[in-house]
Amino acid sequence: MFQVCVLASGSKGNSAIIRTENTKIMLDAGLSGSKLAKLMQQAGMDETKLDAVMISHEHSDHIGGAGVMCRRYNIPLYISDQTYLVSQKKLGKLPAGVKYIGSSDSFLIGDIKVTTFPSSHDVVDGTNFVFQKEGEPDRKLAFATDLGYTSRFTLLKFKEASTIVLESNHDEKMLHEGPYPWHLKQRVKSNQGHLSNNQAVGFVGQIVHPGLKNIILAHLSEQNNDPKLAEDLMRGFLNSINFTTNLKVASQYEPTGLIDI
Ligand SMILES: [Zn+2]
Ligand SMILES: [Zn+2]
Repeated sequence: MFQVCVLASGSKGNSAIIRTENTKIMLDAGLSGSKLAKLMQQAGMDETKLDAVMISHEHSDHIGGAGVMCRRYNIPLYISDQTYLVSQKKLGKLPAGVKYIGSSDSFLIGDIKVTTFPSSHDVVDGTNFVFQKEGEPDRKLAFATDLGYTSRFTLLKFKEASTIVLESNHDEKMLHEGPYPWHLKQRVKSNQGHLSNNQAVGFVGQIVHPGLKNIILAHLSEQNNDPKLAEDLMRGFLNSINFTTNLKVASQYEPTGLIDI
């Protein structure tokens, strides 16, 4: 078994579970402890066991519930040293300690191998991830949200993945015509902001390969996007190149369900 479930995704809170028979990692914990427990239950998971919480960056929609989860399960927090420094107050006491991760790192948690790579976002040390089950080289999950553009690292990591979770944050026209103040629009669009639907499609065009089984679009803006728009754009592109794959859009309010990586 090697599965991913995006519990919630969007500016009101992000969290996902990556699991094997033996190991369960929570990637980001940007919701309250009770909401996270409910979402795990809703997704059909035993919410009494968790091995690690891992953090991509310090924004509250990714870190808000991390301290609570670490205390509840008495498990360590995997986080970069710089991110930890700026988040210590938000996190509170961590009795099981902190494990520092670098932004180009590789390490094992149980039987899941984690590889990190840097993301371009307006934070101290943004990280994106690849997850692999030990002994199963063909099944890889590449996970990248909160990035202003896709770097060469992103391309290399995503090219080999069987499942990708990729940001598809906004529709460029909706952002442009929407209610955000000018400076916020500029921030979202910038190289340290968020990927648009068009950018997500362009990127998938660069990395698509026969082994790509699942595409999960994530971190959609409620204000500046519409799930149907993001999905239709990606599906239209995949159809145009005759590529069949499982396409899903992660939601802010309900889990995706468990997806085989
Ligand atoms: Zn975010
Ligand atoms: Zn962010």
